Amino acid sequence: PPTNIDLKKYIRTIPNYPHEGILFYDISTLLRNADAWQIASARMAHGIAAWQPDLIAGIESRGFVSASPLATALGCGMIMIRKPGKLPGKTISIDYDLEYGQNCIHIQEDAIKPGQRVVIIDDLLATGGTLQAAIKLLRKTGANIIGAAALIELKNLKGREKIDVPLFSAITYN
Ligand code: 5GP
Repeated sequence: PPTNIDLKKYIRTIPNYPHEGILFYDISTLLRNADAWQIASARMAHGIAAWQPDLIAGIESRGFVSASPLATALGCGMIMIRKPGKLPGKTISIDYDLEYGQNCIHIQEDAIKPGQRVVIIDDLLATGGTLQAAIKLLRKTGANIIGAAALIELKNLKGREKIDVPLFSAITYN
């Protein structure tokens, strides 16, 4: 596929979703386009390859979509950071604050072996609350979080300042 493609052309913005006053960046229109999605995934893989991860951790659920092709491209395993009640076996969890209300995410307690190098992936970085909560959660298992990546970064929300590992984003908005 062509590499000079403008990926922003494939991201649709939806006003007042999921709440009044929020402008939502919709990646479904990017996913639907074979070339655009292939290039976006390749850009993500290129951005994190040098960190040499052993595991890619995806945050439910658009983070799974972004993480899975990276794990395949980089020859890594993949682990799932999920909402409550979704993971079988023993899990570890963390609660964190959202703009509206609270959220909770889980990981299987045996998901990460000691010493494994983990990169956490989500589709979009806004305030950074979700990603930093995921970093704290994985650290509870003793994981070595070597970096994080998002397909989209909303720069004006300064989420990057909350993230205490190297952060790569493929597409940025001011
Ligand atoms: P944060 O915790 O950084 O404020 O919000 C990021 C989380 O909310 C991510 O898990 C992301 O999936 C979701 N999110 C927030 N705003 C948007 C948006 O405009 N588009 C998409 N696709 N996800 C969003």
